[in-house]
Amino acid sequence: MRLRNVPGSREMLAASSYCFETPGELKGRWQKEFGNQNPVYIEIGMGKGKFITRLAASHPQINYIGIEKYSSVLVRALEKLEAQPLPNLRLIRMEAENLPDIFAPGEVTGIYLNFSDPWPKDRHTKRRLTSVPFLTLYWQILKPEGLVEFKTDNRPLFDFSLESVEEAGWKLLSHTFDLHRSPMAEGNVMTEYEEKFSALGNPICKLIAMRP
Ligand code: SAH
Repeated sequence: MRLRNVPGSREMLAASSYCFETPGELKGRWQKEFGNQNPVYIEIGMGKGKFITRLAASHPQINYIGIEKYSSVLVRALEKLEAQPLPNLRLIRMEAENLPDIFAPGEVTGIYLNFSDPWPKDRHTKRRLTSVPFLTLYWQILKPEGLVEFKTDNRPLFDFSLESVEEAGWKLLSHTFDLHRSPMAEGNVMTEYEEKFSALGNPICKLIAMRP
């Protein structure tokens, strides 16, 4: 994600009721925050939020939380949300490694990872959001049999992810190396990066893995 400092973005996030300064206070109480018993799905690294906003608009019976580490990016998602309010969507500015401080064990039904940063250098392997250490964090907050769905056009990152799913003992439910020309394309919701990279002709890879 290209970064540009957006003046006032921190203040804008602080002032919005869709966004949380101290999300840890809601740990174990997210359904209460949404005011229902519906399942909670999160996207980690949502960028400007096109994917999660589209999902929330088309699935009002599911609660969504978009997570992004940079306020200058997250503020773009917030602007969309302020313009088109969605009662089932909230946003959090945070680092993925703090997930267990924000969500209680089993509080999350599904996790979306879309076009996560590749961290190509070997010494940065552990920073990849599909590495075994991150899968271990997801294991802590997901329900048993909860799902991780991952999309990328980066083949080395995808191959690495297939390996770490296996190494972590998760069950690979399905995968494809060319999503848009596979049966997994049905009901696919495009992300910002997916639109950009598939327009360039890059095939999109996708996997769905289940928590052991
Ligand atoms: N999901 C979007 C954006 C992909 S770019 C899309 O598909 O269009 C990856 C995004 O993940 C960036 O906005 C980056 O800031 C965010 N990100 C990367 N590592 C993160 C982490 N550890 N915690 C939270 N967000 C992260």
